[in-house]
Amino acid sequence: MRTWAEVDLSALRHNVRTLRRRAADTPLMAVVKADAYGHGAPRIARAAVEAGADSLAVVTVEEGEELRRAGVDAPVLVFTDLPPEELRRARALGFTVTAHSTQSARLIASVGGLKAHLKVNTGMNRWGVEPEEVGEAVRLLGDSMTGVYTHFACADDPDGPGRRETEAQIRTFERVLAARSFAGTLVHAANSAGTLWWPAARYGCVRPGVALYGLHPAGGDPEGEGLRPVMALKSYVASVRRLAPGEGVSYGFTYRAARETAAATVPVGYAEGYRRALSGRSEALIGGRRRPLLGRITMDASVFECDADTQVGDEVVLLGEQGPERVTAEELGRLAGTINYEVTTGVNPRRVERRYV
Ligand SMILES: *Cc1c(COP(=O)(O)O)cnc(C)c1O
Repeated sequence: MRTWAEVDLSALRHNVRTLRRRAADTPLMAVVKADAYGHGAPRIARAAVEAGADSLAVVTVEEGEELRRAGVDAPVLVFTDLPPEELRRARALGFTVTAHSTQSARLIASVGGLKAHLKVNTGMNRWGVEPEEVGEAVRLLGDSMTGVYTHFACADDPDGPGRRETEAQIRTFERVLAARSFAGTLVHAANSAGTLWWPAARYGCVRPGVALYGLHPAGGDPEGEGLRPVMALKSYVASVRRLAPGEGVSYGFTYRAARETAAATVPVGYAEGYRRALSGRSEALIGGRRRPLLGRITMDASVFECDADTQVGDEVVLLGEQGPERVTAEELGRLAGTINYEVTTGVNPRRVERRYV
């Protein structure tokens, strides 16, 4: 393969154990939606369960089906809205679904035989029944209801203005929980940020996604939270050339060599998920050093400065460590005007093989 993603399953297991410890051994639901944030859901799910995850969460029935085909038999919660035929598939596979509105509660009841968690809107205003509709949704779901949950909008900002927003969401959720008996149902709220920074939101289980992959929920340094990045993105030098002063590189000549410069062509482009917005901004690791990207990222290739003695075949690290240097998903996200989540989730599996180590 041209460019590959190394997925470190021992780092994943370390992160699962770290998050469980951090949450005082609260049961852990590993969020493996979107192909485990680009890391490959079947292998990640298996490793997470080995390391102590109690259940798994996905967004589509198909994502859950892929886990079952791979022999993963842990409980699965589906987070989002499903049409009737998908609800029937979820029932056949034994998945728990989400009732996110009174209409969806009614639909789940009419399909019958399903287990459902009720999602409550405590302020995120994306999914969830309003607090005053909880009574009706509970009645509609009847015995199907096995859990109740909410989702935080600002839990990644525990020391800034987001603190008050999360406190308000927790208060609203507490009012919902106090208004009727939820005995025997699983209560949950904490995403990665909640798991790390909101002990009041642990309830019956925590629900981390991004932190499992060793990424920092607020774009900071994951090592500061004891997390180890799971994905590295690696490629190789496919050709080397010498640029004379004044020569341009790649489309539009947005870069021109100021002096004689060695340039390495690397077979990674935006089709691999190496985002074009990084053009002229990012650095890769070649020969144990940081080397700047020259000009624009194209669909299939990028050009980096290199040394005069860089050889064809030398390793190039776009994300991860080489020698003493390290490029993080947080750094690439910042440079591309996005977040670490999108950096790994955007690695295209049709172009980039995952190698599990
Ligand atoms: C994606 C998602 C999570 C995980 O969020 P992270 O920020 O990645 O930890 C948890 N709960 C719900 C409902 C989600 O959609």
